[in-house]
Amino acid sequence: MKAVVFKGERKVEVEDVEDARIASATDVLVRISSSGICGSDLHMYEGRTPVEKGTVFGHENMGVVEAIGDAVQQIQVGDRVVLPFNIACGSCFNCARGYTNACLVLNPDSAGAGYGYSGMGPHRGGQAELLRVPFGDVNCLKLPGEPGDNLEDDFLLLSDIFPTGYHAAELAGVGPGSTVAIFGAGPVGLLAAHSSLIRGAAEVYVVDDIPERLQRVKKAGAIPIDFSKGSPVEQIRDRRLANPLVRGAMRRGEEKMSGVMCGIDAVGYQARREDERDRENPAQVLEWLAGIVNPTGKAGLIGVYFPEDPGGVDANAKEGHITLPLGRFWEKGIEIGMGQCPVKKYNLFLRDLIIAGRARPSFIVSHRLPLVDAPVAYDKFDRRVEGFTKVILKPMERPGARA
Ligand code: ZN
Ligand code: ZN
Repeated sequence: MKAVVFKGERKVEVEDVEDARIASATDVLVRISSSGICGSDLHMYEGRTPVEKGTVFGHENMGVVEAIGDAVQQIQVGDRVVLPFNIACGSCFNCARGYTNACLVLNPDSAGAGYGYSGMGPHRGGQAELLRVPFGDVNCLKLPGEPGDNLEDDFLLLSDIFPTGYHAAELAGVGPGSTVAIFGAGPVGLLAAHSSLIRGAAEVYVVDDIPERLQRVKKAGAIPIDFSKGSPVEQIRDRRLANPLVRGAMRRGEEKMSGVMCGIDAVGYQARREDERDRENPAQVLEWLAGIVNPTGKAGLIGVYFPEDPGGVDANAKEGHITLPLGRFWEKGIEIGMGQCPVKKYNLFLRDLIIAGRARPSFIVSHRLPLVDAPVAYDKFDRRVEGFTKVILKPMERPGARA
């Protein structure tokens, strides 16, 4: 089968590799129709996460079941399925409690397993023609319709970033009437905005400095804040206080609550400085959150922070030691939640919101390309050129079929 193989820093190739196959009675074999390239794939691509050459990438996968092991009961050959990026056994101490992001069985090195990802176990990725899915009954979410139909891309996003964006909103306590500030208008930030609105938020601000991404914020029905034009914390506060309806509803002392109740970090350790936007500051978003989240509010950190970062800005950052304004968080009594999304906790009801037409996460997709175009897609997505913001590879399509 053909697959996207990591060859070294900023180099992937589409090569023939050994076919994925059923190796255990609980396995399901899936013929891939769509596989997303994720911002977190770029961490490996750029050499910011140690990863072995020869790794097959791809943790955002969907397709059609080609074969099943003898012990599989729920899933049948021919079913259309989407797979959570976290691979779960379904029955260990963590999976049994719903923390499928921390499965204790499928990764010998730590808690939590995934496809085609450094440190997440020996599982090949799905940027390929075929994918072996361990514990198929646990990990396959059944879908209606057929490959390539008009919900294909919406369903694909159930593998990672739609549930991940939704989880960020959950961590930040977003509910009816909430005020929300999201840092980062990449795919996860935009879907955190989409999710916040689905959950009934009143005001959703999304901070970025790239014009195309700020345009998509408007498409999501949220308010873009351009941090190239000054402190995003002050911009959001000023905007809220300048609104006569917001100000007119405030009671005594309430101007101290002119920030937001819910803050979301959808950037992570590769954040860039407010004052010098071409330089990194891994704590920049944490500083902004400490400024914009009101006393008694909540913050969700969904952007990635790693315990090891060979490309970190200084010795501390290289070891994942990041200085956070803990004093301000503590003084305000802000609850902070963080970590990888347990996709299986959300994917079923998010699928049903898509089926009902209440969620349309695919508005974030910028490019759909055949598998052979992966090297070009990685390069352009990495450089964020030509509007490459979210790419989905289509292994069932031949080159030149669609752009
Ligand atoms: Zn992803
Ligand atoms: Zn488990």
